[in-house]
Amino acid sequence: MAVLLATSCVKPAPRESVEKSPNVAPSIHKTKATPIVTVPKVTANTAKEEHRPSVPPIEIKVDPKLPKVSIIIDDVGLRRDALDVFWAINSLRKRLTWAIIPGTPHGSSLAKELHAQGETILFHIPMEPMDAKWMTASLEPYLLVSDDADKIRTKLTQRLAQLPADITKDIKGLSNHQGSRFSTNSKAMSTLMSTLKKHELFYVDSRTTADTVAESLAIQNKVPFARRHVFLDNVPEVPVIMVQLKELTQRALKTGAAIAIGHPYPQTASALAIWIQENRNILQVVPVQHLVSTP
Ligand SMILES: [Zn+2]
Repeated sequence: MAVLLATSCVKPAPRESVEKSPNVAPSIHKTKATPIVTVPKVTANTAKEEHRPSVPPIEIKVDPKLPKVSIIIDDVGLRRDALDVFWAINSLRKRLTWAIIPGTPHGSSLAKELHAQGETILFHIPMEPMDAKWMTASLEPYLLVSDDADKIRTKLTQRLAQLPADITKDIKGLSNHQGSRFSTNSKAMSTLMSTLKKHELFYVDSRTTADTVAESLAIQNKVPFARRHVFLDNVPEVPVIMVQLKELTQRALKTGAAIAIGHPYPQTASALAIWIQENRNILQVVPVQHLVSTP
């Protein structure tokens, strides 16, 4: 199913807050925000035995009459326990999209768990930000604008191979981690898109810069494409995330579809639990492949 998303009226992305290095090392224990609802506490054992029954991957039922929202959880793979709070939200099972950075300490194990539960996974690939000091050493190698086409292709192919092959066969899309410099460079993005075409992957532009050329190069290379509209948790506090979710809801009601990016913070899970309860009758949360437009 292809849904063409509106392409106008997008606020410039808050580049710095998304790309400076703290983004990739969620300081869950340092944030002071107190969730205003409690997401049921899930221990490692109950998570496996009760909250995560083994189920075969199945497609969710998509209601064509309801406006659609996709929520991508970025930077998955850095912390082992980061997803536990999300498992407790039953109404979002198989509806979120998990952007895993291949090569991170827990990337492969979380990919296996998510895949076994029929969840949707994206490759989340580090790309050069505007300021080199925002890059995180442990996430090297980034795709760089100074790389020639061969090097970009090699780096990307090697990065994709860092998740288990029996899982990557079911991953249909890729999004950028950071990338505010890389995604403004036509030559680099053209190489990226032609490589995605070869791997039959769609592209989700995180829009870490308003100057991104991703969409036009996706169209040129016939790569299915989607874009982020709202960042949920640049400020990881439940009341602030609720405001962002409201913006997402209004956009979806107005245009039929909208895409948000959040992070695996407990505050984000708490806000999503409240929001989905309030809005489940007026919109539908779907994995992002349902909102990708095919050129
Ligand atoms: Zn990221």
